[in-house]
Amino acid sequence: MFFLFGFGSKERVLGPGEVRTCPNCANTTTWTRVRVVKQVTVFFLPIARWGRRQLEICGICGTAVEV
Ligand SMILES: [Zn+2]
Repeated sequence: MFFLFGFGSKERVLGPGEVRTCPNCANTTTWTRVRVVKQVTVFFLPIARWGRRQLEICGICGTAVEV
């Protein structure tokens, strides 16, 4: 029997985050808040999710911090 497994993390944009000064690129912008979950899929259906985290990501350089 054939199973198609997938493994990875999935990001979902929650909306604008806080205005931050980036430690990497030194720009002050509104960062984007995302939720990241790790998941396993079978036939593209998620069967397990864990490790849910919220991050904010710099729109200029992509630096992420956990919030
Ligand atoms: Zn940056």
